[in-house]
Amino acid sequence: MANYILTKSSFVRGVQCQKSLYLYKNYYKQRDAVSYSQQAVFNRGTNVGVLARTLFLGGIDVTPESIFKYEESAKRTQQLIAEGKEIIYEAAFIFDDTLVAVDILVKENGAWSAYEVKSSLSISETYLMDAALQYYVINGSGLMLDDFFIIHVNRDYIRHGAIDLKQLFTRVSVKKLAEKKHQYIQAQILHSKDTLKKPEIPQNITIGEHCFAPYACDFMGTCWKHIPANSVFDMGGMRKAMMFDLYRQGYVKMEEIPDETDLPDVFRIQIEAIKKNEVIINRKAVADFLKTLHYPLYFLDFESFMPAVPIYEGSHPYHHIPFQYSLHYKAAKDGELRHIEYLAEAGSDPRKIFAERLLKDTRLPGDIIVYNKDFEKKIMKDLAHDFPEFRDALRDRIARIKDLAVPFAKKDYYSPLMRGSNSLKAILPALVPDLKYEELIIKDGNTASIVFESLQTESDLFKIIETRDQLLAYCKMDTLAMVRIIEVLESVKNDGNK
Ligand code: SF4
Repeated sequence: MANYILTKSSFVRGVQCQKSLYLYKNYYKQRDAVSYSQQAVFNRGTNVGVLARTLFLGGIDVTPESIFKYEESAKRTQQLIAEGKEIIYEAAFIFDDTLVAVDILVKENGAWSAYEVKSSLSISETYLMDAALQYYVINGSGLMLDDFFIIHVNRDYIRHGAIDLKQLFTRVSVKKLAEKKHQYIQAQILHSKDTLKKPEIPQNITIGEHCFAPYACDFMGTCWKHIPANSVFDMGGMRKAMMFDLYRQGYVKMEEIPDETDLPDVFRIQIEAIKKNEVIINRKAVADFLKTLHYPLYFLDFESFMPAVPIYEGSHPYHHIPFQYSLHYKAAKDGELRHIEYLAEAGSDPRKIFAERLLKDTRLPGDIIVYNKDFEKKIMKDLAHDFPEFRDALRDRIARIKDLAVPFAKKDYYSPLMRGSNSLKAILPALVPDLKYEELIIKDGNTASIVFESLQTESDLFKIIETRDQLLAYCKMDTLAMVRIIEVLESVKNDGNK
């Protein structure tokens, strides 16, 4: 039995929700599965943490072999301090039944400082809380800290040549803020220990906005299982506060909301579609949207990745690096459908060749249809900034963009199958059921980014070929989906008004 009850992560969990803390400690296996993209975020944090250690070279790493051996790390930390060691990575401490491990512990000019590394661009309230807990435990365990710093990634850093670690990372003292939270931390630890002594799951905690902030809770599969499909929480475009307001008034399913409730049209349409169990189409609005499109039409979709640590010359942390596009082209409504695609080779900066190929492939006149224009526009604007020689041509392409998401965001075409969402993945099953993302290996843009980033260090040729095929199939699906959706919209536009 470990001689601590809480850890940094369980403490933070308890601040969000005491029920989540209780379930985590007693019903760990009921946690929802961690998604591929969530795991990638965790891995990114670990990688940045390891890189930040090079700011303090020569330390001793006491990371345990498994999470169950942190007590040994705490003993080893004490031993190393007693031996006069001055830099310790993952230094562990126990106090007030709470265990913490700080990324880097350093003795500078005879005084100890702790450094916690975050892969983010700024310091959130949760990071301050977690630093305050570490400060409380380390001082309480007997090592008086002279200062406590959070190191995070500097958003203004631009890479020129080799990575400059001193410029890449920003160091912020949070000691004063941590001291101010001393009493809160003490009270919260007591509260959490009381909760964990209880024989049963806390019954007085129900679902609420706290389930989503600061993190999406991983026990939603347990606590939310009584919420049916097409509930008030599926209302697309509605703020969480309003959803919970309806829920607390006793409305769980959308169809239970009384007709006289004062709601904007985008919500009324969703309720009407559920009540009638049918597709609601504003044919005039659909026709008006289609009138804004002029053949020839390009259907375009980009994929990008965002390395926390810039890997290319002139790029900054979390720079959107476009690496792939798919382009379908139709010269006329009944014309032949052509497909063009580009996927960068991993290992070198793809941006310039991406821009060159894109401009060449879209050189003929015609509207460029995308789904949610902000992303494609941002990529093109960034390319215009980074490569002034393409600026005018990229501005021309930006001016030709038309956004296919607009009629779906306005609910001019809405099916109950969309469950409130107007994402491409959500609307496709309702409009083109024979096209299925589920049949692909890569099913979403986040996974595509992570997979491409992983190719930077992949040496297995078969794995590279297989992954590239999967990326091409995914991106092609996005633009083919847009082609087919336009066909569906064209087929309904002249059937009379709603
Ligand atoms: S789903 Fe919500 S109520 Fe349930 S444990 Fe998580 S935060 Fe608490």
